[in-house]
Amino acid sequence: MGKIILTGDRPTGRLHVGHYVGSLRRRVELQNSGEYEKIYIMIADAQALTDNADNPEKVRQNIVEVALDYLSCGLDPAKSTIFIQSMVPELTELSFYYMNLVTVSRLQRNPTVKSEIQMRNFETSIPVGFFTYPISQAADITAFQATTVPVGEDQMPMIEQCREIVHKFNTVYGETLTMPDIMLPDNKACLRLPGTDGKAKMSKSLNNCIYLSDTEEEVKTKVMSMFTDPNHLKVSDPGQVEGNPVFIYLEAFSKPEHFEEFLPEYAGIEELEEHYKRGGLGDVKVKKFLNNVLQAELAPIRARRQEWEKNIPAVYEILKKGSEEAQQVAAQTLRDVRASMKINYFDDAALIKEQMEKYSK
Ligand code: ATP
Ligand code: MG
Repeated sequence: MGKIILTGDRPTGRLHVGHYVGSLRRRVELQNSGEYEKIYIMIADAQALTDNADNPEKVRQNIVEVALDYLSCGLDPAKSTIFIQSMVPELTELSFYYMNLVTVSRLQRNPTVKSEIQMRNFETSIPVGFFTYPISQAADITAFQATTVPVGEDQMPMIEQCREIVHKFNTVYGETLTMPDIMLPDNKACLRLPGTDGKAKMSKSLNNCIYLSDTEEEVKTKVMSMFTDPNHLKVSDPGQVEGNPVFIYLEAFSKPEHFEEFLPEYAGIEELEEHYKRGGLGDVKVKKFLNNVLQAELAPIRARRQEWEKNIPAVYEILKKGSEEAQQVAAQTLRDVRASMKINYFDDAALIKEQMEKYSK
């Protein structure tokens, strides 16, 4: 068996630059590397509904937004299968069986679930579906026998939990599921891109995002009002680079050619950082550079999006085809799972024979 990728995003909003550096950019590289036998990209609408049950319209609207973001970043439906989670009902059935292999206390210990519950102020009113979403995520990954899951750092506990489910399933029912590996971004700044407000994570739910589809003006306004080192008041003051989102974004996005083009007086990011730490480098200058870098990266994405926006029926057609293909693959895994779990009563000739013999004695 070759290497297989499964990854995806929740249709809770348009995709932002955190998604881009955390997962999307890598997916496109992996897609074009030719090293993967299959690549599945899932729009996780069922998962989005676990904490947006009362807002189905939001999820419905954002399916096409996420698909447009995918296509504009270079995901190619000829090479990657893009599909909608709820169009593959086999995933729900797998989740139901996996639920028996996970304890409530193990779910309660999942650090991502914990922090997301806090972030959403669920306190004592946690929807059961939301609480169990790591299990449904394990179903998504294993349904496609994925070997590789390229995601941001916040997903680490999810993949760990999925690996435990795979191990447990294979131990109890026999070798059936593929053990997946997480693939994190290799650049530290991309593991968990902070928000423009300096909060630990850029997140649709926190309103601190630069979206891939923002206009040139919107990007500029957001960059120029970004949080930086609050103690760097005068240009001459020494500044702090660690934890400063402007520098983290530069580490995530800037390339040597950006320095050559927009800031030739500095050899690269280290020299710029040294100057900021020493004092004498103003935030406005750094932000202007960051704006240039982001505009250079986002302009081609924006242009491709505008092209796809003219052809919405084609986008839905891609999703429909992808969902049909994904459904067939998941159905095969479900057949294997049912056989391993001994719940394939009608296609087990040995079972019928065994029962027959029992009663013919
Ligand atoms: P929500 O607030 O609805 O959970 P989100 O912004 O966290 O939305 P998801 O759809 O949950 O986005 O995440 C999709 C993918 O993007 C995951 O692989 C996740 O690790 C990655 N990702 C999300 N935010 C960031 C970020 N700030 N930095 C790096 N990767 C990120
Ligand atoms: Mg999230």
